[in-house]
Amino acid sequence: MTVGALAGRARLAPGGEPSDVGVTVGALAGRARLAPGAGRFRILGQVTDIRRVDFGYFIRPAAETGTGADRAEPCLGYLIDHPDGLLLIDTGMGAHPDVDARYRPQRVPLPGALRAAGTHLDDIRYVANCHLHFDHCGGNPLLAGRPVFTQRSELASARDEIDYTLPALIDPPGVTYTELDGEAEILPGVLVLPTPGHTRGHQSFAVRRSDGTVVVAGQSHDTATAFSADALGHRAGVGSPPAWLERLLALDPRRIVFAHDNAVWEP
Ligand SMILES: [Zn+2]
Ligand SMILES: [Zn+2]
Repeated sequence: MTVGALAGRARLAPGGEPSDVGVTVGALAGRARLAPGAGRFRILGQVTDIRRVDFGYFIRPAAETGTGADRAEPCLGYLIDHPDGLLLIDTGMGAHPDVDARYRPQRVPLPGALRAAGTHLDDIRYVANCHLHFDHCGGNPLLAGRPVFTQRSELASARDEIDYTLPALIDPPGVTYTELDGEAEILPGVLVLPTPGHTRGHQSFAVRRSDGTVVVAGQSHDTATAFSADALGHRAGVGSPPAWLERLLALDPRRIVFAHDNAVWEP
């Protein structure tokens, strides 16, 4: 389902009144309050929890960091506890001798990562990947039978471009994609936003809650600090932030989380 604006797509949660539930993202637990002016979110408080999933870390080699030094980067996914079922965004790092030699990953395989997050493979009902590089879809082969939400252009890149990702991760038995062409509300209150840059089909996820919108931005930016620089640059009219940033900020996000940074962005 492709939708235009998020505004006006509000739906009443079954049972009516929203609850003022706490945002939990990793260790950054906090009792959330309705922000001034956030009344428009009040009827949207359906997602009860957003949990971080720790897939381990890898070493980005100096040739890719732009700093001349290796850098250790976490690999993080997110669980969206939606009334329609658990949505898992990103599934960990795939394995191959070449990527293992280049990135030296210290993996937490999907079953163990989910266990540490308090859930189980069988509980996952929906899957999405911010993009299809090997470090974001490594566990997809274990998730046959669930719809995997991806941008059509991203899937085309993964299938057609040489060395784009690990081919074994893309079309394993039983994995079926729901291909999206741009924005789409994949579940009530969960909006997919195209955020191209790192890859042409990169997508982020705006999750509406009673206390505001949380954005899972994947690898739209490598770090929360890099996002912060672009967001402020957009406001100040300096730099060259990505074209989609205005759309994302128009959702008035209260928190943005990333795939390769434990830090979060908050306004
Ligand atoms: Zn990537
Ligand atoms: Zn990545």
